[in-house]
Amino acid sequence: MRLLHGKALAEKLHERSRERSAALRARGVAPRLAAVSVGIDPAANTYLQRLAARGKKLEVAVDEVDLPGDASEQQLVATLERLGADVRIHGILLLTPLPGALDEGHIVDHIVPAKDVEGMNPFNVGLLADGRPRFVPSTAEAVVELLKFHGVTLRGARAAVLGRSTTVGRPAAYLLLKEDATVTIAHSRTPDIGAITTEASIVVAAVGRPGFVKGDMLKPGATVIDAGINVMPHGIVGDVDIESVTSVAAAVSPVPGGLGAVTTELLLRNVLTAAERQQHD
Ligand code: NAP
Repeated sequence: MRLLHGKALAEKLHERSRERSAALRARGVAPRLAAVSVGIDPAANTYLQRLAARGKKLEVAVDEVDLPGDASEQQLVATLERLGADVRIHGILLLTPLPGALDEGHIVDHIVPAKDVEGMNPFNVGLLADGRPRFVPSTAEAVVELLKFHGVTLRGARAAVLGRSTTVGRPAAYLLLKEDATVTIAHSRTPDIGAITTEASIVVAAVGRPGFVKGDMLKPGATVIDAGINVMPHGIVGDVDIESVTSVAAAVSPVPGGLGAVTTELLLRNVLTAAERQQHD
């Protein structure tokens, strides 16, 4: 079984972004992302640290805008609107999940679409659903970029996406559809998920349950992309039971070492895209 590592792709993306960042700076533009967090959970925190470190290498500033865990919806909306109006800020990332009773579905309406680098605003969600993606959730984009980078054929492939969240499962399914795969989305109310996955040559796991995908759920020779990030006492694991899939799958993306680094580079790439576009507006 082949491991679909993300490092080489991440480096390739990074090199290209370095050139774009330098070109912006030469024109007097300092690309800048505002990463807004409320309270903050460990998974989000690790992501933020990596984003800041990779951003620094690219000379993309990452402003951490931290609101307290008990921030009100009005406070958060006001923060997003202030950042939307700030010409020094090119991209806005709202870290999720949000704590307490904050209604993410309503709050993302206040991320101005031109700066919505994680594709959360319904305008960008709609463009993706319409088959003309602009800003797309970076983990979902990483799924497709990693498959392409490793030469996995998407056109005509049967793909099963496990999970239907707006951040991972749903956008990954739309992107695979755009690549001419035939896509089935499964979720917690789907009976007999194994009957769906055994028909698929590509399985994307975005469920958030360690060991969810087992070898007996796969078609021999399948490619599995593991988007799961499950924080366990001994470290981070994905949604795939590596031990049982090893003898069945042709390829699996490891956790860690698969999507993570690619996701960060794609988000930063979107900040550069946003900064470039804002020069023409
Ligand atoms: P989520 O919002 O909790 O969604 C999980 C999805 O999995 C839901 O659609 C849920 O179905 C489905 N599901 C849960 N239990 C299931 C079961 N027993 N059988 C079938 N489906 C089941 O999580 P997420 O944000 O999509 O993240 C998924 C995983 O990817 C997590 O490990 C997360 O840490 C990781 N990840 C998240 C992000 C991010 O930006 N959010 C980024 C990278 C990786 P229902 O819709 O029916 O509830």
